[in-house]
Amino acid sequence: MSQQTTFKIPKTNSLVAVSIYLALGLCALVYGILNIEVAFWAKLSLPFAGAIFFTFIEYVAHRYLYHSGEDYTNAENWQYTMHGVHHMHPNDKGLLAMPIFLALVLAAAFFGLFHLVMQDHAFFFWPGFLMGYAGYLYVHYSIHAHKPPNNIFGYLWKHHLLHHHIYDDKAFGVTSPLWDMVFGSMPPKKALHRKEG
Ligand SMILES: [Zn+2]
Ligand SMILES: [Zn+2]
Repeated sequence: MSQQTTFKIPKTNSLVAVSIYLALGLCALVYGILNIEVAFWAKLSLPFAGAIFFTFIEYVAHRYLYHSGEDYTNAENWQYTMHGVHHMHPNDKGLLAMPIFLALVLAAAFFGLFHLVMQDHAFFFWPGFLMGYAGYLYVHYSIHAHKPPNNIFGYLWKHHLLHHHIYDDKAFGVTSPLWDMVFGSMPPKKALHRKEG
């Protein structure tokens, strides 16, 4: 038995994580509005652009990192620790979010990157990006914790549960099917329309 199989994957409370990232994103946005001089249009649109960019990173990380190469269901592989464990235990609510400390380090790295590319505009783009992550965690938590609602959002349950149970090589987007449409990884239409038990 190897060391890795005995490694205990840390648990994280998704709702605590969501609250922290939302609060941090809001504080950063207020700081930007009060202290950073950029064009009015930028203050208004960059938070939305940041959130949409997050959904792109969400898709790319899920498809090309977590489901890359080696078998993600094999506990020997790093993909298992990052994501496979969630596929094997989809009902374990403690395994839906990465550890908060790790997320904050990554968030800081993304801020650095955005600041390098767009200078002070990052004070508006980054809060949207971070709140996009909070939104993703909340949607993913809801899908695994609650029954699908009887409205348009019920679609997200169907999309993600198809990824879990039938097509693990399709339907990588959780907050929306947008990037699955763009990159051709939509599940077959008939599967989406089928009533599930
Ligand atoms: Zn997956
Ligand atoms: Zn899931």
